[in-house]
Amino acid sequence: MINDTTIAAIATPAGVGAIAIIRLSGKQAISICEKVFQPKKKGIILSQQKPYTIHFGSIVEGKKAIDEVLVSLFKSPHSYTGEDTVEISCHGSIVIQQEILELLIRNGAVHAQPGEFTLRAFLNGKMDLSQAEGVADLIAANSEASRRVAMDQMRGGFSTELKLLRDKLLHFISLIELELDFSEEDVEFADRSQLKELINSMLDQTTKLMESFKFGNVIKQGVPVAIVGKPNVGKSTLLNRILNEEKAIVSEIAGTTRDSIEDTISIKGVNFRFIDTAGLRHTTDTIESIGIERAYQKIAKARIVLVMLDAKDPIEELVNQIENIAKSATNNQQLIALLNKADMVDKERIEQVKQTLKIQYPKIDSVEISAKHNQNIDRLTEMLAVSIIPATDNVNTVIVTNARHYESLYNAKESLERAINALDRNIPTDLLAMDIRQVLHYIGEITGQITTDEILGSIFSKFCIGK
Ligand code: GDP
Repeated sequence: MINDTTIAAIATPAGVGAIAIIRLSGKQAISICEKVFQPKKKGIILSQQKPYTIHFGSIVEGKKAIDEVLVSLFKSPHSYTGEDTVEISCHGSIVIQQEILELLIRNGAVHAQPGEFTLRAFLNGKMDLSQAEGVADLIAANSEASRRVAMDQMRGGFSTELKLLRDKLLHFISLIELELDFSEEDVEFADRSQLKELINSMLDQTTKLMESFKFGNVIKQGVPVAIVGKPNVGKSTLLNRILNEEKAIVSEIAGTTRDSIEDTISIKGVNFRFIDTAGLRHTTDTIESIGIERAYQKIAKARIVLVMLDAKDPIEELVNQIENIAKSATNNQQLIALLNKADMVDKERIEQVKQTLKIQYPKIDSVEISAKHNQNIDRLTEMLAVSIIPATDNVNTVIVTNARHYESLYNAKESLERAINALDRNIPTDLLAMDIRQVLHYIGEITGQITTDEILGSIFSKFCIGK
């Protein structure tokens, strides 16, 4: 897949900015740039300059100067791609960017494919595959928490650990292959109890990583939150309140109607995504538009369910409402009971309701609020943040966010379980060897020690051009 072409692309976002960067990478990066660059200082020849230097001058086509630019030089192997690289910082006009890029193409560069710079970095051994995927996630990160997770992955994250275990397993497989070579003589080179210990620790590791996927995905996509409760309890008032108080990001998912606009807020660097709130934002929403069925669908999609109650309602009725929702919730979901309209009842009553709820539902936190009068809303957002932050704060937690990694881990785990089974039952060595080879294969898929063009194609096509 490595080829001799020199690729070029605009590396900064589409549109007008103060400056833009055009990147060139490949054997001819410097010589192509030299053809179109006229240095300010007479006598400077780009290809004779030291790497990691910056040069001021103009990009010219014949007699026409297109722009004044800064040219930065990087030499193989110490560049992002591992190849000779030139970065041209020009002025941000779209016309200038396009003209320079086209000029470079006419002088021998080719348009870079999406992610091709990072693909080259991977092929040149500058990073492993999961690190490269971390780069894509880092670019796409839209919250502090997703940035942290992506950064961790880009720096090596769990691939370092996986590689270590894979290397140990490689050692065993070589001994087992040796046994197979000497199968007539019934020798045992690979210590079975040590092998079992290693396989068990790999099983632990893969299970832990797989468990982290659910959480990782949540961090990447935003924590889904549902607000449910009977009509007129104050759901839309609360939503509008939270969206106004917190930094709200209203995202529209491409190709859908008004109905699936999502309201996202960022609290302490974590995005919370309010599910199915299109109807709620407008107070015209009534019992007809949010049916019971829809409320249950919302609950099913949520990680946090805000059960909104009217603090004025009789206690038995409140318990009934919670009961209805609690029985449809799963263990992974967190319920928070909101006693809304707290401004309309006295403190003793609130305490009494909270006490009753605590006894009946010890796992459900409750908080009294007034959506309308902005009471205790900050306490509620704090509760949202706390519900998710402990896990992200732990720097040692490695989190899987990538569905491809999850699939490979899943397959590796199955083969590990088969290998343990083979060891326990003294199944013939050649079958054991097959299971171990499969584990090596699946783990290698994550770190890129095993790749096919198909996997690489699908990973790097998701990048933006210029990265
Ligand atoms: P929804 O049907 O659950 O979305 O309820 P709304 O948000 O439309 O609220 C119904 C009514 O309750 C409106 O008249 C709100 O002004 C009122 N309301 C909402 N929250 C509070 C609150 O905390 N205190 C008081 N006094 N009224 C509230």
